[in-house]
Amino acid sequence: MDPHLIELPRKVVVGNDVLKEIPSVCREFGISSGILVISDDNTRGIAGDSIKDSLDSVMAIVNSDQYSEVERLKAEHSGINMVIGAGGGRVIDIGKLLAFELDIPFISVPTAPSHDGITSERVSISKGNGKYSIRAKPPIAIIADIKILMNAPYRLVAAGCADVISNYTAVYDWKLGKERGEYYSKYAATLSLLAAEIVMRSAESIKNMEERGIRDLVEALVTSGISMSMAHSSRPASGSEHMFSHALDQLGSTALHGEQCGIGAVLMAHLQRQDWENIKKSLAVVGAPTTARELGVDQDMLVNALVKAKEIRDRYTILNRKPLDAQKAIELCRATGIFS
Ligand SMILES: [Zn+2]
Repeated sequence: MDPHLIELPRKVVVGNDVLKEIPSVCREFGISSGILVISDDNTRGIAGDSIKDSLDSVMAIVNSDQYSEVERLKAEHSGINMVIGAGGGRVIDIGKLLAFELDIPFISVPTAPSHDGITSERVSISKGNGKYSIRAKPPIAIIADIKILMNAPYRLVAAGCADVISNYTAVYDWKLGKERGEYYSKYAATLSLLAAEIVMRSAESIKNMEERGIRDLVEALVTSGISMSMAHSSRPASGSEHMFSHALDQLGSTALHGEQCGIGAVLMAHLQRQDWENIKKSLAVVGAPTTARELGVDQDMLVNALVKAKEIRDRYTILNRKPLDAQKAIELCRATGIFS
């Protein structure tokens, strides 16, 4: 077998009031100065400012998910030894990519459990009008403060659940790839499915914003991210349902990543002859969208995204086995109640 490189986070701290652990975590990695803390206007007050004040560091505010932000930060801040991203997906992705390009460590401090990018090696970034998913490096540490995450807007929490639940269809697609000789890791696939199962089982507790439920969700997001790092590919947590979501992004949808992936998982599970009803039920329990109307996407755009999804990337999925034209896409949406 070929050598297979696995890079994982070295430290995951989940608990209440854990931001105060950050200085000692930095010291453990041998870094005590030249730290750049990244936030946005909203998350600096939630976490960014207090992290900055506890370290020999400077703060940078990012305002978009455009690659130009990474270039701007590189030009404005020389000689930095570490990047800490305190915020949602956008802040964390910009920070992760900046650290990757500078070949320095990155610490992820999520302020919302909205998708597994907070823990994975993947970065979703915009260049002009296009959005790209690229491989960087996983965070060296993840500091997940439960108190902060429990105060995140609930819509972001539900989206995070839907992103993890969509692992069911991603793993199925990965198995299809395996049948065609693609690299497959049973271990990574099992981890990914375990994350989805835990979220499904904790759906009620998450919905009630109980501490136990939010911890389960955070740990599931961490596990999902780790499964991708183990596979050195997004395969365990990104299949046809994610391609559908990326197609929606390109068509101008403004729904959240996890929300789109959740709807995608219902549709793809139907094509895969998996238990799509159970996926849909779990999405409903956590309060994630289960219809086009709830997603805020009109029917035409949804059908276009389903037809376009196959071309998003060169990845073998159920959409290669069962290609969709507009008519078939409409029938699928009707069969699953997405158009109800
Ligand atoms: Zn995702």
